[in-house]
Amino acid sequence: MILILSKGIFREDKEQLMQTLRAEDYLIKEIEGVEETILGVVGKIQRDAAYFEMLPGVAKAIPISKPYKLVSRELHPKPSIIRVGDVTIGGDRIVVIAGPCGVEDRKRTLDIARAVRKCGAVLFRGGAFKPRTSPYSFQGLGEEGLKILSEVRDETGMGVVTEMTSISQADLMMKYVDIVQIGARNMQNFELLKCVGRIGKPVLLKRGLSATIEEWLMSTEYILSEGNDQVILCERGIRTFERYTRNTLDLTAVPVIKKLTHLPIIIDPSHATGIREMVSPMARAAIASGADGLIIEVHTEPEKALSDGPQSLYPAQFEQLMRDLYVIAPVVGKQVDYAYLEKASILRCPPDAAGGVPTQVVYAGVPGSFSHKAGVQFFGPEVDLQNRASFREVFEEVESGKAVLGIVPVENSLTGSIHENYDLLLEHDLKIVGEVTLRIKHHLIGHENTTLESIERVYSHPQVFQQCREFLSQHPTWDLVSCKDTASAVRRVQENNDPREVAIGSEEACELSQMKILKEGIETNPRNFTRFVVISRTELLSAPRNKTSLIYSVSDTPGALYETLKILAEKHINLVKLESRPIHSKPWEYLFYADLEVDLSREENAQVLEMLKEKAEFFKYLGSYAKGRTVEE
Ligand code: PEP
Ligand code: MN
Repeated sequence: MILILSKGIFREDKEQLMQTLRAEDYLIKEIEGVEETILGVVGKIQRDAAYFEMLPGVAKAIPISKPYKLVSRELHPKPSIIRVGDVTIGGDRIVVIAGPCGVEDRKRTLDIARAVRKCGAVLFRGGAFKPRTSPYSFQGLGEEGLKILSEVRDETGMGVVTEMTSISQADLMMKYVDIVQIGARNMQNFELLKCVGRIGKPVLLKRGLSATIEEWLMSTEYILSEGNDQVILCERGIRTFERYTRNTLDLTAVPVIKKLTHLPIIIDPSHATGIREMVSPMARAAIASGADGLIIEVHTEPEKALSDGPQSLYPAQFEQLMRDLYVIAPVVGKQVDYAYLEKASILRCPPDAAGGVPTQVVYAGVPGSFSHKAGVQFFGPEVDLQNRASFREVFEEVESGKAVLGIVPVENSLTGSIHENYDLLLEHDLKIVGEVTLRIKHHLIGHENTTLESIERVYSHPQVFQQCREFLSQHPTWDLVSCKDTASAVRRVQENNDPREVAIGSEEACELSQMKILKEGIETNPRNFTRFVVISRTELLSAPRNKTSLIYSVSDTPGALYETLKILAEKHINLVKLESRPIHSKPWEYLFYADLEVDLSREENAQVLEMLKEKAEFFKYLGSYAKGRTVEE
């Protein structure tokens, strides 16, 4: 039952109501609402809406229409995010779990783990208790296998997933495992489901061989009703009349599950197809369909594997698949982040922690600004982002080690480079370790009672006025007041509390200050993007990189710049940006800022770096990093 409480209900009355419900063994979930307080109430005693509406404080009671309650979207409209160590499942980063079907021996397991970790897997799979169709097949190594999995976690930082086949394994699961898998054959083993509900660790619940989606969700309800709502659903193919593939992958389960529940769903293309060549095409389709992740069998010597060899990918195939997913994910608003675990471990154990605990990440501006948003995009929602008053301060704190990382804008697609930051990059001894590109949407933000007619003054950043020129030119009487950034413009308008004043800023800034968007998307050109770079004292991230930034100058002789470009042309290196900036101490002499599509930190490219240095008078290598994805608002 969903209970909408009376508007403005006092806290004590709500507590009283919850106590009454708890006394009858109802499980209560509070649902976040903007204006209303909503409770989801689930229990064994079946009562109709009229009963609940009689209770003091209840304005309305709406029955949950589905047989599963805690699992349903009705009770929990926002998607759930499941946390497993540093990894979050259900957010905008694709989570790929990879590893062998079964843990076979220590060396092989560690080899596979290192290989999949290098390609971007963030969690490791491997069965220690194998539910095999034949009693004569390999049954798994039991506790010895779990110990090997623990070693994998210690060495690689990947959390481990393994199957639990019996209640008697509960203690072992508690001790060794990060995610407990319930296999397809056990989907309706209700005692096992209740047990993993009580263990409280995240559960990966596979769909039964011939289970309907409703049956699958009813099984999920068993786990949630024990108080464990960390469940990841896994579609692994169902039995149909088709025998060509091992099972038939039901990809429609992805949008159906997303519609019916708040829980994340991942796809297992290995058991779904049973055939190595079919695994990657189905994995690609799964991500395109909106799945939150994949669980894939990978083996270094699949021909010798003790189980499921024919469906296990070779590491090279897995690597190629991850590259394909990197390209596909942004189409559905997600990303494959090769540096996922690295970023998390840097934030957890900052490399400069010697002289006290440094700030994780600094940016210039206030919460709600685009720099803030870029920081969250790059590091994930958990990051501790702290704001500073200026770009210079950001550079100085990172250089001195007070902060581990900084994030600053360097370029806008409409108005060009942010020269101050290019100059600061030259001045400071820092490296670029990453980038993010944000689509910038500007909104006209004001008070509840403000109308376009009542506006007299607009606050924003001068560059933003430029970007919204066409819209502003329709209102020539408006006074434009410059501010440091858009978020502080919004804050100022909120504080002044004058209905004649408005600001131009982001949706986040509007939300933070609880104001109203009067007009959406007023930028002249919607193809408005800002590129941010992440700076640090050292090249922290060793995940694959494909871009390099340089600053250099050449002698004042004919063809000097051409000589440097010739090197790039001959080495087939794509130049994606070249900009000249005046050298402050030498009038009419210039520095070139270049972005190249190559990783110049790699050993095999050392020669290119040397050749460029040779042709340059001044040369500064800013760093190699992974090309950032573009994030739409
Ligand atoms: C497995 O993941 O190795 C497995 C046995 O899967 P399923 O339960 O989907 O058959
Ligand atoms: Mn298997």
